[in-house]
Amino acid sequence: MGLWFTEKYEGEGMELQATGLTFKVKSAVKKETPYQELLLLETEDWGKMLVLDGAVQTTERDEFIYHEMIVHPAGFTFTREIERVLVVGGGDGGTVREVLKHNPKVVDLVEIDRDVVEFSKRELPSISSGLSDERVNLIFGDGREFVKDKDSLYDLIIVDCSDPIGPSKVLYEEEFYRDVLKALKPDGIFVTQSESPFAQRNVHIKVVKELSKVFKIIRPYLAFIPTYPSGMWSFTMASNKLDPLGVPPSSLGKLYREFVEKNGELKYYNPEIHYGAFAIPNFVYREE
Ligand code: SAM
Repeated sequence: MGLWFTEKYEGEGMELQATGLTFKVKSAVKKETPYQELLLLETEDWGKMLVLDGAVQTTERDEFIYHEMIVHPAGFTFTREIERVLVVGGGDGGTVREVLKHNPKVVDLVEIDRDVVEFSKRELPSISSGLSDERVNLIFGDGREFVKDKDSLYDLIIVDCSDPIGPSKVLYEEEFYRDVLKALKPDGIFVTQSESPFAQRNVHIKVVKELSKVFKIIRPYLAFIPTYPSGMWSFTMASNKLDPLGVPPSSLGKLYREFVEKNGELKYYNPEIHYGAFAIPNFVYREE
């Protein structure tokens, strides 16, 4: 098509509002689903790209960073087997693909929009490959409702959702985090993507604050994701028992070597990143 697609994100401050990300588009498919506008672009430099309601969700070129980093810091905090995992959102399948590398018995994926899953299976096979694994249950519904009646069921719960607008909004609130805690085993871990501490600092701070009302250990961490607003992205891990910074380097090194023997080398996460990602620059939590 030779057209340009620009994501205009609402940042905090004039400079950010004036900038956006621009991609050279070769072809595009658009669909209005019952929940959002879904756009699949074939781009010149970033491969295929999934866009929901105008916001880039994932591209073939840099998806490995987000998907490795939403899973492995928590995956390597467990020193025991991970049996059952819940992924809320994440219909493109990248998070499930990485979760499966930790050899769980069951993965439940609760995605509100069936079209995202169907589109990704068809158009993004390298990302969605894990969705057809027999250990994965695809559940179509609202993740907020799904967790309500679960009790000590999951080792790991991951929220891989979009920005806090539309159906994702409820996944950023204290009441949801309380149900998540109940759905986790006592030594379970929760991870959520927590927006850009630079471009969406208020949302990031709110996530950390709400989680602090519910969990004892809260660990925000960072990764560099070129196609997300400002490139500086965060995730937040929460637990009542397990601390990613409490894992001794020698046992992490051993676990990682065994993991690489089975799965091959990862492209972003490694034991140095495991500890380094939790270092947060001063401006993020500075009182204004
Ligand atoms: N990596 C992404 C990002 O941060 O931009 C998120 C990708 S993933 C495609 C987000 C998914 O969350 C979407 O497919 C959306 O349909 C799903 N979602 C949003 N709210 C949801 C809810 N309440 N329950 C289940 N899935 C939800």
